Amino acid sequence: MCGIVAYLGNKPAFPILINGLKRLEYRGYDSAGVALLEDGNLTIYKKQGKVQQLENLTNGHTFDSTVGIGHTRWATHGEPSDRNAHPHFSSNRRLAIIHNGIIENYGALKTELQEEGYTFESDTDTEVFITFIEDIQKTLGVSLEEAVRVALTKVVGAYAIVIMSQDDPGKLIAARKGSPLVIGLGKGEYYVASDATPIIEFTNEVVYLNDEEIAIITREGFEIVNTKDIPQKPYIHTLDLKLEAIEKGGYEHFMLKEIFEQPRSIADCMRGRINAAEGRLMLGGIRNYSSALTNAQRIVIIACGTSWHAGLVAEYLFEDICRIPIEVEYASEFRYRNPVIREGDIVIAISQSGETADTLAAIELAKSKGAIVFGVVNTVGSSISRATHEGAYLHAGPEIGVASTKAFTAQLTVLTMIALSVAQQKGTISDV
Ligand code: GLU
Repeated sequence: MCGIVAYLGNKPAFPILINGLKRLEYRGYDSAGVALLEDGNLTIYKKQGKVQQLENLTNGHTFDSTVGIGHTRWATHGEPSDRNAHPHFSSNRRLAIIHNGIIENYGALKTELQEEGYTFESDTDTEVFITFIEDIQKTLGVSLEEAVRVALTKVVGAYAIVIMSQDDPGKLIAARKGSPLVIGLGKGEYYVASDATPIIEFTNEVVYLNDEEIAIITREGFEIVNTKDIPQKPYIHTLDLKLEAIEKGGYEHFMLKEIFEQPRSIADCMRGRINAAEGRLMLGGIRNYSSALTNAQRIVIIACGTSWHAGLVAEYLFEDICRIPIEVEYASEFRYRNPVIREGDIVIAISQSGETADTLAAIELAKSKGAIVFGVVNTVGSSISRATHEGAYLHAGPEIGVASTKAFTAQLTVLTMIALSVAQQKGTISDV
């Protein structure tokens, strides 16, 4: 799942989109593209390769469009190519979409649409998705947002999407399920992105969309409904992110910068949580369920990748000082088997991004069986932080390097603090 950036406001959209796509380059991608409105016509520029190649393609042209959508793709359906790059037009070329994720039932939808006479230019699930929306709009004679809503009740899979229309030039429709999307609130202008990095130089007021929510954005304002058409109250977060924190700060690579940030990120992680005078740990996010944690008969840790390795270290620590049996599970295994989880069992879910899809699904499974789930997450307001009962943030700052460094050491720091406070309450150790 790759990068999304979109803009609707009063400034030229193109430089904002290109700059945003460059900020999202850290995620890795195979192609890039933008859609704009030029003289009332929806126009797409897209190219396999780097954002720089997309910029070269437009040959220094300055576009007036004050609305636009941009994408960096990591191919899942169809090879990386200009043709498969996003945005994609619908069949009548009046709608354009950018999409992160996978539409699992795209094959059946494509066959149905082909039987109705639609043809496709790409091999992607995404083009099927936008053509399906066009078809619903035509068949039901409904507004764009209603057609999107109906389509979302029929697709299976994961998505973060932004759609623009030639017939609705002052509107963006954004929706998500299983793939993050954040809306930045400017003054009479709106940004949409797959994470906050393209937004923070413009505004620190953001709204994180929840799964199965649709945002209808115009220059006058925005509203959110869910896929059942029930209006949702947006919760506005104020981001505490500085631009320097997502730039390289003189280092050759983000990973190098993040390695050197560790003394500070570990200190940030412990800040305000240790009362040295009284020898106490205070984890504000773990309060209501702390006795359940202390009295746990066993704890299951679920995570993926580096976070799973942090879980393996935590296993030694918890068993040693808390005397509680620990099982560390790979979230992708846990979610697809039939794990034994009983009412009141304790689960700790670890994720840097807070968006790890398998970990999120494993959390929902554990919760459905009655488990109490704690999150150890870096990204404030992320899906996992919202899906868990309680938890402790890492406060390590954004980690751009794909090989985790400072988030890993911060995870160990938080897990150590949790283990120490449980051990202290249980009396299995005397002093911290
Ligand atoms: N499934 C879509 C494609 O293959 C989106 C991939 C992505 O998340 O970048 O084009």
